[in-house]
Amino acid sequence: MEFTEDHHRFRQAVRGTIQREVDPYVDAWEEAGIFPAHQLFGALGDAGLLGLEYDPAFGGQGADHSYKVVLGEELGRIDCGGVPMAISVQTDMATPSLHRFGTPELKERYLAPAIRGEMVCSIAVTEPDAGSDVAGIRTRAVRDGDEWVINGTKLYITNGTQADWLCLLVRTSDEGGYNGMSQIVFPTETSGFTVSRKLAKLGNWSSDTAELSFVDARVPVGNTIGEVGRGFHQQMAQFQNERMIAAYLSIGSMSRALERTRDYLRQRQVFGRPLLDNQHVQFTLAELAAELDLLRHYNYACAEAYLRGEDTTRFATVAKLKAGRLARQVADACLQFHGGVGYMDEAWISRYYRDSRLLSIGGGADEVMLRVLARMDGYGSDG
Ligand SMILES: Cc1cc2nc3c(=O)[nH]c(=O)nc-3n(C[C@H](O)[C@H](O)[C@H](O)COP(=O)(O)OP(=O)(O)OC[C@H]3O[C@@H](n4cnc5c(N)ncnc54)[C@H](O)[C@@H]3O)c2cc1C
Repeated sequence: MEFTEDHHRFRQAVRGTIQREVDPYVDAWEEAGIFPAHQLFGALGDAGLLGLEYDPAFGGQGADHSYKVVLGEELGRIDCGGVPMAISVQTDMATPSLHRFGTPELKERYLAPAIRGEMVCSIAVTEPDAGSDVAGIRTRAVRDGDEWVINGTKLYITNGTQADWLCLLVRTSDEGGYNGMSQIVFPTETSGFTVSRKLAKLGNWSSDTAELSFVDARVPVGNTIGEVGRGFHQQMAQFQNERMIAAYLSIGSMSRALERTRDYLRQRQVFGRPLLDNQHVQFTLAELAAELDLLRHYNYACAEAYLRGEDTTRFATVAKLKAGRLARQVADACLQFHGGVGYMDEAWISRYYRDSRLLSIGGGADEVMLRVLARMDGYGSDG
């Protein structure tokens, strides 16, 4: 992928926005267990960062996907995992389907304010009994005239306590399995909707994660995104955006972790010399940096394929799998070389270790990525 002078300027601009709008507040947001999504997204919307690839008719920037790679890498450098995750839910997990398949009216009403940062959104797929196996969802929308009547529960929903609307995956017919699901824009002001609880987590503290309940909640059938009954397929396409941004973010966070660890080890004296002078330490970090290079360039190949309009399922799956696995190795090595201070809550590496663990679980666990690849490559017989 070729980055031009314009990409470089964009990178610097994103970095400046983060330094101004995010960096000074991260520690307080982590401690509070939430960040002010409307306030931050308003600022990011003003900076044009929430609709980079979206149609200018709805306030998007109309940029190509290469700028998303840059944005992801820079957001990943934020000093916590929660805020980048929340931003990427807004840009790459909850809105791609609406942009791709929504009617102009629906986009005007929900996408445009999300791009401006006035509305916060969530992607609501996972349920208590269906995470990896999306086909098992039970939340149901039954048609009554011009309305859907929705009942069910969604779990682990990022931005869930602050969202103005959800991209909600529901069952809309009795056809089992992959058919009979639809995606619906669900405004959270709808009566019958409640945030049942905000969940405490191992990491990503600044991001609010919620359980959501729907009891006879009515929304217009016109809020359906795309075709009734095509929700599963549309969500699978949206998952590719989720997995790509997760891989782009991981480059920023892993690069920063390696840089910070190197700088610490250069000044930390053990046995009369800097820890970084030990070849074992150098080789370990150098090998991780080499692996990171491979992933970075794999991401670029993925982005180029996406730019050419190709199906990026395989690229996104491999990148997400590798990002999750490598982040665990990077976090573990960096923590190990910090010694006792690395185990303290106050150390940045402690937060990185907790936060980065999610990458192998959220957005499809490592094993789900392997299942996709095994099926693609014809391994196994369980389909
Ligand atoms: C902090 C956080 C934020 C999240 N945000 C959102 C969100 O905004 N919206 C949303 O819809 N969801 C969200 N999720 C849910 C997330 O996508 C799911 O947790 C994930 O897909 C795994 O589903 P599960 O938790 O139900 O695990 P399960 O499906 O019960 O799987 C448990 C484990 O089993 C293993 N496994 C699964 N399938 C196989 C297999 N075929 N073979 C072997 N092993 C397997 C994996 O290791 C997996 O981790 C979030 C989760 C977390 C923790």
